[in-house]
Order: sequence, then C-alpha cells, then structure tokens
Amino acid sequence: MAKVLRCKDLGMGCTKELRAETEEELLKLAAEHAEKDHGIQASSIPPSILAMVKAAIRDE
Ligand SMILES: [Zn+2]
Repeated sequence: MAKVLRCKDLGMGCTKELRAETEEELLKLAAEHAEKDHGIQASSIPPSILAMVKAAIRDE
C-alpha cells in the first residue's frame, strides 16, 4: 500500500500527485514539491497547514 497526496486536494491549482511508501517520505516529497513548484519554503509552513496536508494523505 502506498501513501498518496494530491496537490489539488490542498486547494492548489496543480495536478501533481505524490506517492511514497511512508508518511514521512511523502511529507519530504511534498516539502520538495512545494518549494520547487510553488515557491513555498517548507520551514515556513505553519502546523495548521501541516495538519491539513497530513489529513489529505490517502492510502492506495
Ligand atoms: Zn503542486
């Protein structure tokens, strides 16, 4: 089973779909994607948004 995070589930106008084996790995990929494609510094993401990101993670 894989962990999947769709950027558009976070309200971004983006069709990127991230997949990883673990939540930890997925959050790392999400941080890289946010930084590279959305210009968002992962270190500047508040805990409330991080909670939203975690809630949007699906098992597939
Ligand atoms: Zn995106």
